[in-house]
Amino acid sequence: MPAKRVRLLVMNTALGPLDYRVPEGMAVDYGSVVVAPLGPRQVTGIVWESERLPGTEVPDSKLRPLLDVLDVPPLQAELRRLIEWTSDYYIAPMASVARMVISSGGALRGPATMTEYRLTGGMPERMTPQRQAAIEALEGEQATIRELAGIAGVSEGVLRGLVNQGAMEPVEVDIDRPYTRARADFDQPQLSADQREVADRLVAAVEERKFAPILLDGVTGSGKTETYFEAVAAALAADRQVLVLLPEIALTEAFLTRFEGRFGAAPVTWHSSMKATERRRAWRAIASGEAQVVVGARSALFLPYRNLGLIVVDEAHEISFKQEDGVRYNARDIAVMRARFEGIPAVLASATPALESLHMADSGTYEKLVLPSRFGGAELPDIKLVDLTEEKPGSGAWIAPPLRAALQDRLEKGEQSLLFLNRRGYAPLTLCRHCGYRFKCPNCSAWLVEHRLSRRLACHHCGHETQPPEKCPECGEPDCLVACGPGVERIADEVREILPEARVAVATSDTLRTPEAAAQFVAAVENKLIDVIVGTQLVTKGFHFPELTLVGVIDADLGLEGGDLRAAERTYQQVAQVAGRAGRGEKPGEVLIQTRHPEAPVIAALEAGDRDAFYEAETEARRYAGAPPFGRWAAIIISSEDEKEAREAAQRLGDTRPRLDDVQVLGPAPAPLALLRGRYRYRLLLVARRSASLQAVIRDWLDKIDHPPGVRVGVDIDPYSF
Ligand code: ADP
Ligand code: ZN
Repeated sequence: MPAKRVRLLVMNTALGPLDYRVPEGMAVDYGSVVVAPLGPRQVTGIVWESERLPGTEVPDSKLRPLLDVLDVPPLQAELRRLIEWTSDYYIAPMASVARMVISSGGALRGPATMTEYRLTGGMPERMTPQRQAAIEALEGEQATIRELAGIAGVSEGVLRGLVNQGAMEPVEVDIDRPYTRARADFDQPQLSADQREVADRLVAAVEERKFAPILLDGVTGSGKTETYFEAVAAALAADRQVLVLLPEIALTEAFLTRFEGRFGAAPVTWHSSMKATERRRAWRAIASGEAQVVVGARSALFLPYRNLGLIVVDEAHEISFKQEDGVRYNARDIAVMRARFEGIPAVLASATPALESLHMADSGTYEKLVLPSRFGGAELPDIKLVDLTEEKPGSGAWIAPPLRAALQDRLEKGEQSLLFLNRRGYAPLTLCRHCGYRFKCPNCSAWLVEHRLSRRLACHHCGHETQPPEKCPECGEPDCLVACGPGVERIADEVREILPEARVAVATSDTLRTPEAAAQFVAAVENKLIDVIVGTQLVTKGFHFPELTLVGVIDADLGLEGGDLRAAERTYQQVAQVAGRAGRGEKPGEVLIQTRHPEAPVIAALEAGDRDAFYEAETEARRYAGAPPFGRWAAIIISSEDEKEAREAAQRLGDTRPRLDDVQVLGPAPAPLALLRGRYRYRLLLVARRSASLQAVIRDWLDKIDHPPGVRVGVDIDPYSF
């Protein structure tokens, strides 16, 4: 229990921890979230153990009193330790980490009520099929507009129309209104023998209530979800909370439906596009223990669970678990750390685990559970290569004859196909046909990508957008734009040319931006309203479409360009995952991989379906390079709006580099994106032995140098892009 004097970890200030007096009659505890005066301002802070949070000693007589304690449970010691660990490991200010916990969207302060909606029983003046569908789906439901839109599979606009026409009405409810309770035994499936064995172990791990990192390694369609649901059930039965991390919000809707079928209630969701009231309600319910299961994006790791019993990271190999802005962390690793602090199991589920995770399993640090075959006897698809040096698609085309023929064949049989190309938009580069001018982002060193569906040129790094101009900004010629290279929209056009009768859908983060759009897409595919899906990495995971029997990979070499440490691994994962979408039902699947390098080890391993061979070769390559998991890498990124300032700051850091045997510093050199969002970026790379105290070295080094205020220095521990 803290004394009359407390130390705060203070948000929204560059100052370090500050001490305050606890006024008479105010009860605070470690972890309490409080309001304190700072000069003329009021700031939010968290009461911390002063011995763990070094700060300046101010005499008692000079202390100012705290102003208020917020009406939320104090952050528990486990979460405070996680904040400290994250700050230490990723070399990020503790306040920045804590901010991810407490200011998740104004979660803490706000009105005591929120608005939900329900049907009035009245009918709209103008009935449309969508309105009709919504009214049927929402019988007896009451929730926020967004949740209802998700339930009914319509857009929020449709529901607003119903509100305007009196068919729905708002209801003010308490922000702490309970959620529908999930039930462990609502609809239990019959598990296969393999699944039963894995599920039993997961259930035991939940019941043992101790730290257990587990790699759930099962081929696509083996029932990983089904088995970890048994562990979720065990946690529910023990009245403990569960966190399931998913890589992509587009997948959530399908997952929620499945979850609801199994447990009789939807889980609480957490992602970046939630509105403030939704966040507030969820945050409070998570802190009070009312929320039983949370399904969320990586930021859900930092929520104040009251009684966490299990963490699952689904599709744990996904690179979107790596946060690249602000505090640069890897959610997969933090999930394991959080489980460790909480003393609970963490399950990492994947069909193509990260090399690091496999290494942990093989070295005995993680337990490994394996599901070797698809559920229900479905075969893994047959994988064939299409050698583009022999099978030429023709000029301005990307689909080679064998893939064309296969698409044609599926269409005739009434089966579905999926074409994968990890490039959003119509074309990755746009030129002027007269002068060769290339359309470039003004804020980033990146080309603008033409998006024909939405008629714009967009930067995929900063979001900068313009309309395609009528004439070339350089030479002034009209109608000058030529598209270079393919994006998914262009591939979709090519499919429409080859198969004019096919119904083609583009599935990317542009077209499936909202949960409703994703739900509509899934429904359209399931109802066989779509023959060919053309999609980016978004469609490589999670979806289960039984009628989909052909997967075509447009360009398997794309990811291998550019000398990135993880290029081969990522290519393997993406292609294996997208291949895993084929033949999940009764009909066998076929996968055609277009490549110019059939001899490349990763492509050969994909064709042979030999995962072990690929991982072994990749492991050796990493060991040889001293790369993770055998060595430790870190990047330091120095940026400024002024090129010279950034370069000089990087140089100064380079000049003072530590000279050690076990840590080597490379650079500075321009970062891979040398200009990003208007900031010029330089980078130093650290390559360290496993045993080196990398964080301490970096901290000491960075502490020694002051930079002009315009310079930002960011640290990226275990970076993904090199
Ligand atoms: P994974 O997560 O490994 O890709 P899923 O859990 O999504 O696999 O399972 C693939 C498909 O098989 C899903 O449609 C799922 O409902 C079905 N399935 C898996 N196990 C069972 C089971 N024991 N009983 C009924 N259906 C199952
Ligand atoms: Zn940009």
